[in-house]
Amino acid sequence: MTQLIDGKQISKQIKDELRDEVQQLNVQGKNACLAVVQVGNDPASSVYVNNKKKACAYIGIGSKAYELPEKTTEAELVSFVEELNRDETVNGILVQLPLPSHIDEDKIIRTISPDKDVDGFHPVSVGRLWIGEKGFLSCTPAGIIQLLKRSGIEIEGKECVVVGRSNIVGKPMAALLLRENGTVTVAHSRTKNLKEITKRADILIVAIGKKRFITADYVKEGAVVIDVGMHRDENNHLCGDVDFEDVAPHTSAITPVPGGVGPMTIAMLMNNCVETMRTQEERP
Ligand code: NAP
Repeated sequence: MTQLIDGKQISKQIKDELRDEVQQLNVQGKNACLAVVQVGNDPASSVYVNNKKKACAYIGIGSKAYELPEKTTEAELVSFVEELNRDETVNGILVQLPLPSHIDEDKIIRTISPDKDVDGFHPVSVGRLWIGEKGFLSCTPAGIIQLLKRSGIEIEGKECVVVGRSNIVGKPMAALLLRENGTVTVAHSRTKNLKEITKRADILIVAIGKKRFITADYVKEGAVVIDVGMHRDENNHLCGDVDFEDVAPHTSAITPVPGGVGPMTIAMLMNNCVETMRTQEERP
């Protein structure tokens, strides 16, 4: 019997836990405010920014949204972020990606103070993750760890295969699985005999960015399959990197798209915002 891993329900559970925790932290005089910066008015980015504002309101933390014009220069954005770094009323800073092509995303990510880097993309956050130091975790991979743990799926000692090595999903995913004592293999576009490798996986995590790429012949019978991909198919329906209909009957547990990994990213962003409160001094 295949277990359907319900990301909607688990993300709601996490947000409710955070809401309770925020109430208690408020009593101790601890507060948080997330600054979300959007450059230009890409409709998809506007939806993400709105969802983040809504999630902040739900768990009871402040948010400030800044919409900067498309023609904002890199230098202007750098000084805007530096100003937010200095602003003591702002605890977390998120610059919505992608940025217009005339702005170097890496430069902007590096400008955000590591103490306010709630996306977990700054090299300092990435370094802390790899050496096992406390720090902000990249939200999508951290959400996947929560999906596994809260669905009763043990990671320790398991063969974990991550397909994809992006800085925002594949690489931090590998680091987190390693931290949970999984045995980790990372595959990518130059990997030879991909099927042989994915078929070894007890836990297969797919972040390739290719519609329904993973079919049943890539999956070991009884594996756990986590699908990070997010696409619109020819009928305008959402689908993942995994061919769900083909693969699901062969798995012990699988995430659907939508309603699997997607809702977890915001829940873990909220967790990072609350983390900025946990570490604050208690105020009378
Ligand atoms: P990305 O930056 O495009 O990276 C894709 C990775 O897949 C690369 O490492 C690439 O290898 C590898 N790859 C491509 N074709 C392959 C193949 N045929 N065989 C094996 N590996 C292959 O993508 P991403 O940002 O990680 O995102 C992946 C997917 O997740 C996308 O669909 C994205 O929309 C989705 N996503 C969802 C969430 C969420 O919250 N649900 C968050 C982030 C991303 P090379 O490195 O060799 O090029």
